[in-house]
Amino acid sequence: MSGINSGRRRIKREARSKYNVGQRIQKNEQKKSEKNSFHSPINYTATYFVIIGVMNDLSDHFRLNEFQAKTLKKLGITSVETLLRHIPSRYASFGAGNSIADAEIGAEASLIVEIKKIETAKGFRSRIPMAKGKVSDPSGTLDVVWLNQPYIARMYPQGSTVRLSGKITDRKGVKSMVNPVVHTLESDEQAGGLFIQGGTGELVPVYPESRGISSDWLRVACDKIIKKKLHEEIVDPIPKEILTQYNLPTLSTAFVWAHMPVTQKDTEAARKRFAFEEVFYIQLERQLERKEWEANNSYKIEKTRGDLEKFISKFPYSLTGAQEKVIVDILKDFQSGKPMARLLEGDVGSGKTAVAAASVQAVVTTRPFGQDFGTLQAAYMAPTEILATQHFESFIEYFVGSGLQIGLITGSGCRKFPSKVKPNSWTDISRTQLLKWVENGEIPILIGTHALIQKSVKWKHLALAIIDEQHRFGTKQRKGLVDKSHTAPHLLSMTATPIPRTLALTVFGDLDLSLLDEMPPGRKQVITKIVPPNERRGAYEIIRNEIKTGRQAYVICPRIDEPDPEKEMAVQAKSVKEEAKRLAKDVFPELSIGILHSKMKPAEKDKVMKEFSSGKIKILVATSVVEVGVNVPNATTIIIEGAERFGLAQLHQLRGRVIRSNHQARCFVFADGKSEATIKRLDHFAKAKNGFELAEFDLETRGAGDLAGGKQWGITDIGMEALKNIKMVEFARKEAKELIEKDSQLTKYPSLKAHITEKRTKIHFE
Ligand code: ADP
Ligand code: MG
Repeated sequence: MSGINSGRRRIKREARSKYNVGQRIQKNEQKKSEKNSFHSPINYTATYFVIIGVMNDLSDHFRLNEFQAKTLKKLGITSVETLLRHIPSRYASFGAGNSIADAEIGAEASLIVEIKKIETAKGFRSRIPMAKGKVSDPSGTLDVVWLNQPYIARMYPQGSTVRLSGKITDRKGVKSMVNPVVHTLESDEQAGGLFIQGGTGELVPVYPESRGISSDWLRVACDKIIKKKLHEEIVDPIPKEILTQYNLPTLSTAFVWAHMPVTQKDTEAARKRFAFEEVFYIQLERQLERKEWEANNSYKIEKTRGDLEKFISKFPYSLTGAQEKVIVDILKDFQSGKPMARLLEGDVGSGKTAVAAASVQAVVTTRPFGQDFGTLQAAYMAPTEILATQHFESFIEYFVGSGLQIGLITGSGCRKFPSKVKPNSWTDISRTQLLKWVENGEIPILIGTHALIQKSVKWKHLALAIIDEQHRFGTKQRKGLVDKSHTAPHLLSMTATPIPRTLALTVFGDLDLSLLDEMPPGRKQVITKIVPPNERRGAYEIIRNEIKTGRQAYVICPRIDEPDPEKEMAVQAKSVKEEAKRLAKDVFPELSIGILHSKMKPAEKDKVMKEFSSGKIKILVATSVVEVGVNVPNATTIIIEGAERFGLAQLHQLRGRVIRSNHQARCFVFADGKSEATIKRLDHFAKAKNGFELAEFDLETRGAGDLAGGKQWGITDIGMEALKNIKMVEFARKEAKELIEKDSQLTKYPSLKAHITEKRTKIHFE
């Protein structure tokens, strides 16, 4: 026993002395690298992590029980640095004058109260364990509930005086707080004079927390670390010049300003720095990727717009100005000598396929270098079999009579156009046969799903890869397209998802952007109406009439199931299951109604979609799962319930479901929220014709909390805040670009390199 202990002590001692040595190394290395004489960033990276690792160990500073350690890990807090990077989600300000009587419903308050009564309980139906009680101050009393935190009743017994921070709510007519953060008065004292300034309204950090690690614990912990000056030991990866130029605090200052702010300005400056840092890292990564992509050889395709005239003049319409412009962008890239990496953003129906076809035409009429036979090849990848098949069919129309062969490859089989026997249609062929013809170059155009980029598909001269609507087509997949001679195809990524410019510049920072911001003429706009509750019946009658003339409809609800009545914070909104029942019983008893949501099994979903496509189901009640890829042209009306719960871009995508035919489409919007902001947003939605406009408006007006959608792009809420600031994004992009231009290996910026390497390694192992 004692042997083990002394062993542990020895390890600790060694670790500490390593740390001192480490510091010296760190300083020396920095000097060396400043002099540009440091040649091995990889070694440095290793050293860097060892040094930080030792002093960074949380257990050196806190006595953590197993539960706490686990919870911290879940929050991503595994070291001093990650602790300090867990920055407050908000700051409660409380002045001396705050009292229960003054606290307004809906407002944040931080109140010093005495616990009058506290007990554990279970939700009546939900059986959710909770602590509930009554607290008071000289001005009045307040009900308090802590859902899922029954242990609070033990931690703060009756008679204790605590400070509660949170939102004041109205629970059945009684002033209440649900899940407030509890601060003991000792912890307030420990925090020192920095916060308690009596009456002037101090700022108290409130942290994103988890069961077992309270906001208070985090606050005291950060405080302790900062007082030990450990935050000063963490190397700031952002080059000084950049910080100075953009007037951003250094890392150590930002830590202090985030965790122990004196003024609001401090907290803003700190957030700005962390936001910049996040966007800057993403930009650096993307610029590195771009550099790597451009280091490949590429196919030079020397075609002009004039060369394409004959092909394009056969289209049954003339191109929009936007389509013309994008085609010119692409032709320029083809001639640049570098492999193209371009993102084409265009609303549903803006005509991306025609642009794709024109680009393919340029490629497949070009001979491979130094050859006077054969052609370059193009691949066109779609996210689903249905879409791949659709593209195959439209390409047949575009290329019929050209003498070129077109292949289709999906999970369920392969086709080739033209068929030998019927020159105007396609034929089924075996996968082996198709792959053989792609490999020897006889099939110049191959359309398909993911099956298209599998290793078994070998190309003779793949010069262009078009990726339709697949955001996850990442670096790894792209690398898979580069052949053995390091020749990369030109890459055209297409999306109908309206992405705000700053987000696109960030998450697709490695791509050049083209916009199709003009719709083909003559399209009917979807009539969008925000319906007041008393006109609900009228909307249903319109749908009934539409269905009588053969059309179909969607009803979109924000939830799948009914909310749990015991859950205080539960979203009170229509659910797919209940709404479908209600419609079937009370509104459309004569019609067949289906449901669709993400919790259904794939086979069930498939069945429902087939029945809706075939017209057997007349009304599809669904969650926002129908947002992408669902294409039922006969559905011309959509009802959106609880519309205030959807992002504007998402509403726009939902509305896009019903503009797939020549019938007049309608969108009825119901909203429960009556706040001015909600009305303004929905008004914008009803009027805007264009997804990008809406996406920008959405980003500008939604609060940081609502921006959680950033997760799908790998961006935190703080990072999303940065995206509201086009200047910041452009600056980060410019700096990242210049840095990579100057020093593509980041040799002079070892800690930046370490960060990026770590990030990239993580992604590659996912
Ligand atoms: P998306 O951008 O959603 O992929 P598509 O390429 O599928 O759009 O085009 C939608 C429809 O618009 C197709 O039927 C296509 O033939 C037609 N279309 C494309 N460009 C034009 C144009 N310039 N004028 C008229 N119709 C067009
Ligand atoms: Mg399309």
